[in-house]
Amino acid sequence: MTEVLARLRSEFGTEQVLAGADAAPFECDWRRRAPGRALAVLRPRSVAEVQAMLRAATREGLALVPQGGNTGLVEGSTPDDSGRELVLSLRRLDRIRAISLVNATLCAEAGALLQPLQQACAAQGLLLPLSLAAEGSCTLGGNLATNAGGTQVLRWGNARDLCLGLEVVTADGGLWSDLDGLRKDHRGLNLRDLFIGSEGTLGVITAAVIKLQALPRSRLAAWLAVPDLPAAMQLLQSARMALGDGLSGFEAMSQASQQLLDSLPLPACPWALLVELSSHRTEAEARAEFEAWLALALAEGWAQDAVLAHNEAQAQALWALREAIPGAQTRAGGNLKHDIALPLDRIADFVAACEARIARAFAGARPVVFGHLGDGNLHFNVAPPPGQSLADFQAQEPALNALVFDCVAEFGGSFSAEHGIGRLRRAELAQRLDPLALDLMRRIKQALDPANRLNPGRVL
Ligand code: FAD
Repeated sequence: MTEVLARLRSEFGTEQVLAGADAAPFECDWRRRAPGRALAVLRPRSVAEVQAMLRAATREGLALVPQGGNTGLVEGSTPDDSGRELVLSLRRLDRIRAISLVNATLCAEAGALLQPLQQACAAQGLLLPLSLAAEGSCTLGGNLATNAGGTQVLRWGNARDLCLGLEVVTADGGLWSDLDGLRKDHRGLNLRDLFIGSEGTLGVITAAVIKLQALPRSRLAAWLAVPDLPAAMQLLQSARMALGDGLSGFEAMSQASQQLLDSLPLPACPWALLVELSSHRTEAEARAEFEAWLALALAEGWAQDAVLAHNEAQAQALWALREAIPGAQTRAGGNLKHDIALPLDRIADFVAACEARIARAFAGARPVVFGHLGDGNLHFNVAPPPGQSLADFQAQEPALNALVFDCVAEFGGSFSAEHGIGRLRRAELAQRLDPLALDLMRRIKQALDPANRLNPGRVL
């Protein structure tokens, strides 16, 4: 392996090929569940270098793991522990190539961090409507490779819905570019949608064109105390009717997840909702509309109490609380995570059934549930019984996952909503997906990456 490293360094330069301690920051996943060891970390500075590095990997017979911000939660962006995989870090490909006001598009390279991209668009009066708690660290390429969701899916859709085109380096080093930013284009099969969500297994995304929106004139947020999930679903339905397209966020936090936070705008209650209205009307008009809906919610008893943010800073403070929950969970000792999606009309029954089954089978285990309720996407996490360490509880992880995912299937849901498959959910995919769907996926992988160089052992 030292000769391979020497050859890579002589071809690309020492700065572009990190090894040993220099590679360590790229080797462990965000949740620190799967520390790995890479042969080297390749850091291309141009698309041509990405192509050359893929060809070098093929020549050396090595596997390559694309990596963006390494915030993925399913162990897909880091090497295994064999010491034989290369990490391909896209972080140095971070240029904005163009923001077009007329086309309302952003063209940026894959390694650009999401938050600076949002800020650059906002400076031009445009909204990049993708938002997630990891936005300061995740990259545009990683967002597309995982088809990221986040907090604005309700109004604008997930990463796939925002993308008008990609530039991709294929497994054999070829370059496919589709960056014209067309809103209509039906020339054969949709390759763009094939690469989006493929988690680095079919090609390396090097750039993308993203559809932008006009920045809303006003953004209002309210925190609501709700007696139960059926009431929350009733509120979602009424918010849709009352606020129409303006409804841009509908997040839910169970009592256990509220209790993880240091301060709360309202006392902890069975469920708290964070509801956002983004409007192109004046602040006063939007506020009147939002207040009318809140008054209805309280009068009907769907909400027991509500706090409406008075300004943007207060709205941001409410969002900061919601986004603090993942970190607070970790500080509270961690839990076993399930990123699931359910049909909206079955979600309340699912939560009741699944919590009852957990109480019977895992005495003392504590569900800590929160998430993007408006999208039917819950982070259905389960903390160990008081006094039991996470490490001990992990021994029961296969049985707990089986219980949760069986229940999800029974209610017509998905065991993977927005975080992807990676290595973490590979077994579930193999066991639970329709065999024909799995077979079609394997055939696509075989066609695009016949030597299995790109992210082998992830997803499939
Ligand atoms: P990485 O973690 O580096 O990679 C993720 C996957 O994409 C890997 O399989 C990798 O091989 C592949 N990949 C990365 N870049 C490329 C590329 N250029 N070409 C091809 N393949 C590539 N996710 C959500 O969907 N919604 C959320 O609300 C959300 N909230 C989060 C909150 C926190 C605190 C954290 C830590 C994570 C959250 N995530 C969320 C998960 C994660 O942030 C997203 O999946 C994000 O899109 C990953 O981007 P990344 O640049 O970090 O990718």
